[in-house]
Amino acid sequence: MKAIIIGGGIAGLATAISLRKIGWDVVVNERATHYTEIGLGFILLPNGVLALDHLGAGTAIRKTGKYVKRAILQNEFGEIYKKETLNYSIAIQRYDCIKALCDLLPEESVCFGNDFSHFIYDDRGKATAVVYKNGVQQEGDIFIAADGANSMIRRSLFPEYRLSQTTVKELVCIADLPEISELLKGDLIKTQSESDGLSFGLLPCNDEQVIWYMQYDCTKWDMKDLSAKSKKDFAFSLLRKWPHPIDYVLNNTNFNKAFLWSTKDMDLLPAFHQKNIVLIGDAAHLALPFTSQGTNSALEDAIILANLLEGQKKDFGEVFTEFYYARKDTLEHYLDFGRMLSDRFLQPHLFVDEEAPIPLAK
Ligand SMILES: Cc1cc2nc3c(=O)[nH]c(=O)nc-3n(C[C@H](O)[C@H](O)[C@H](O)COP(=O)(O)OP(=O)(O)OC[C@H]3O[C@@H](n4cnc5c(N)ncnc54)[C@H](O)[C@@H]3O)c2cc1C
Repeated sequence: MKAIIIGGGIAGLATAISLRKIGWDVVVNERATHYTEIGLGFILLPNGVLALDHLGAGTAIRKTGKYVKRAILQNEFGEIYKKETLNYSIAIQRYDCIKALCDLLPEESVCFGNDFSHFIYDDRGKATAVVYKNGVQQEGDIFIAADGANSMIRRSLFPEYRLSQTTVKELVCIADLPEISELLKGDLIKTQSESDGLSFGLLPCNDEQVIWYMQYDCTKWDMKDLSAKSKKDFAFSLLRKWPHPIDYVLNNTNFNKAFLWSTKDMDLLPAFHQKNIVLIGDAAHLALPFTSQGTNSALEDAIILANLLEGQKKDFGEVFTEFYYARKDTLEHYLDFGRMLSDRFLQPHLFVDEEAPIPLAK
């Protein structure tokens, strides 16, 4: 059996590894011409770490990432109101995670520079081949769309489902600060304003670097433009008086590397497939801010899909329907949880007396 995977991010690579384990012939097609260190990082939660262990990337991610042992929540005056132990959670740069997955695949199974154009269908509506913008064409038994949150394939299969803009934006950066990485001792420190939708998260992603992210309600504030100066001025204007070491981290950040996410929302699709084309990862379901489930869910998808395809004797459509129902409840729970955390973030004063769940990163 041959699977053509479109999109060589976390979901695409993890699915390729899972399918190769059950004997499938797989090719991953990435639009970029190579992987770069662009991209920041994320927290691998226990479900993601378990999935990476299953794929065989566990040792590599433990070597390049950093265990996050506790999440500490404090207000903007530095008063701590919650400490929670995190089990098996690893912060890692996206590039290191991509590399750990790529290293498990033969070089020839990942093709770069293949930007999806369209499918070719037979007269019963089944896809027989995929064509890329450079003219390359590939035939396969199934086609796996792992082309990320803005998935062109999702938009063509489910045109009525659109991403909607949320009012939460997130400025994210990795800073070379070994002294802060050491100071954090494996803790994620999340500082949340008591009155407004504004927070700052700080965590080590290895012994040399930290990831920080500033989440804000863009109906209240926003930056003038996306220049490094504008990002720096904006962060300082809102966080100047926030507890140490936030000032130090901002002062020692190269804002040319800071990235602004405009977060999006989307209801769960009614299905993840059409005939023999199936969506996976962010292409299938969007991760909302605060749940940290984008990468972790994509990894889970990869393993569950391969499990269902193993020894498959049914029609692919039936397997993909099973895949959808195997994921639906969990994904709906993440959506609800993300929306609830978002409400709390935007109006923290309404929730002061309640037990606060730990909102993590994007
Ligand atoms: C460059 C980049 C940096 C990121 N940085 C962070 C981060 O710092 N923190 C965080 O939490 N999340 C980050 N993400 C998102 C995070 O990786 C995903 O939410 C999560 O890992 C789910 O993975 P995915 O494979 O479904 O989607 P993605 O990781 O987005 O991967 C999708 C892949 O498909 C490729 N692609 C898109 N369109 C086409 C096309 N037409 N043809 C072929 N290939 C295509 C993309 O280039 C990309 O490699 C980043 C994503 C990208 C692409």
